[in-house]
Amino acid sequence: MEIKFERFHLQSDLRSPLEGFETISVPTEVRIDPLTKRRSRIITWGLPSQGKFDFSKMVEESKGCFFCPENVLQKTPQFLKEIFPEGRICVGRAVGFPNLNPVGSYGSVIVLCHEHFLNLNQFTPEIYEEGLSVAIEIIRRTMAFDPDTRYWQISQNFLLPGGSTILHPHLQVIGDPIPTNEMEWLLDASFSYYQRNETLYWKDLIQIEKGLGKRYITNIGKTYWFVSFAPIGFNEVCGSVEGHGSITTLAKEEIASLAKGIVSTLKYYDAKFLNSFNFSIYSISGEAHYQLLVRIISRTPIQPYYLNDWTSFEVLQSELTANIIPEELCREIRPYFP
Ligand SMILES: [Zn+2]
Repeated sequence: MEIKFERFHLQSDLRSPLEGFETISVPTEVRIDPLTKRRSRIITWGLPSQGKFDFSKMVEESKGCFFCPENVLQKTPQFLKEIFPEGRICVGRAVGFPNLNPVGSYGSVIVLCHEHFLNLNQFTPEIYEEGLSVAIEIIRRTMAFDPDTRYWQISQNFLLPGGSTILHPHLQVIGDPIPTNEMEWLLDASFSYYQRNETLYWKDLIQIEKGLGKRYITNIGKTYWFVSFAPIGFNEVCGSVEGHGSITTLAKEEIASLAKGIVSTLKYYDAKFLNSFNFSIYSISGEAHYQLLVRIISRTPIQPYYLNDWTSFEVLQSELTANIIPEELCREIRPYFP
């Protein structure tokens, strides 16, 4: 096994007005992702939380949206008859349909629930089980129609900081014949790891993280949950499902495990007064060296005078930052998992 956890210690010395202009040292850690070799900066200072945000005015002003139950079957697009003769796909309360503003070959939206708005502690495993089941059906049927569409992302952008203009909880499902940058990095690096070691990176990583115990959260069935050594976002939590590269081959209990892990992470975010997040499931067919991965990150919460968490560092230097030490996040989030 050749998984290395490389890190560099940086330090900034200055005379602080908060300490009577005494000299202080502020550390920053640069960590290298063991797989992709991408750098990530762990900053050790954070902005104070402003507490819970009151969403009542925002909810009142936007309710009755296209995704609300009275509109969703009237005002949303329908799939091509060749792929889904029934037009839309429903499982429980989840409804899937094509995205009116797609960004790829096959873009869909899945409305997750009847409620126009949910606080992060109100999402339930059942909500995600139903939503992910719709996603799987969309992917299965689209791939039967167009087998070249091997690269899929099942994502959630929640609230404005997460990039969503619509409050109503929903997923995005996007399939293409070519990978995204992130998928290509993951695939290329997993493939060369396999060539060098003749083992699956994800299997080795989980074994090592389990042994170290500092970033390993738990397993729920065959889904292994951990905090990344070199996160690419704030409060990043990852899950990987053993024995699968594509979400389409998951059995019911594995879908339930994914759903539970996502909900556990959201409960932790809620307890930290965070309210906006993104997740992506990277689902790729026909790649023996890859294992299905979900990555969840929090965004700066909605609050008066919103602060964007992507600065010139992320957008122009491609250097990602995290604002909590991964080992500390792991310790804090463990009690929220079953
Ligand atoms: Zn709505």
